[in-house]
Amino acid sequence: MNIKFKNILDCLNYKTHCPFCKEKMALYRSDSYIEYKSEEPRLRFNLSEENAVIIDTITNEVEYQTKKSLFVNTKSKYSIIFEGIKIICQNELCLRYTYIVQIQIDIKNLKINDFGLNTEYILHMDDNEIIYEIKNNYISNSTEYNIYNNDTIKYHKIPLILPDLSNIKKTIDRINNLLIIN
Ligand SMILES: [Zn+2]
Repeated sequence: MNIKFKNILDCLNYKTHCPFCKEKMALYRSDSYIEYKSEEPRLRFNLSEENAVIIDTITNEVEYQTKKSLFVNTKSKYSIIFEGIKIICQNELCLRYTYIVQIQIDIKNLKINDFGLNTEYILHMDDNEIIYEIKNNYISNSTEYNIYNNDTIKYHKIPLILPDLSNIKKTIDRINNLLIIN
């Protein structure tokens, strides 16, 4: 399965609200690596202290900044890089839904090659407090399915299962049945 996006705004709009608690989803900013203000159409990846890539979230315009280039006309040591953006549920008590978009950036030619859905991450707890974790990787077309029950954890890796976000219990039942058959 291949879900593609046309720009960063499109990536952020893939799921604007958490399918479980209905809270807003938003870009996860780790440390100072990603800089993004929703009112500005720019997202910045600080590749190092000296290098940064800035992407226009609507036009896909790519800018490569390096402090060194102020003095020397150096070329980027990077050519194509992969960056991920993580979009998480903003409700700290939920955090049951997360997705990651992979961005392929051609720094040499200052353009975006690809925006694709990389991972979708779902957590569900049933009435017996058993936690089910579904981690879908859309690049490798596989699902990691883990069950946490008290102190025991069961890990499974299976071919990709598309989740029914409107009824995640149904998806979990489906996977459990599949695991019994196999
Ligand atoms: Zn949520």
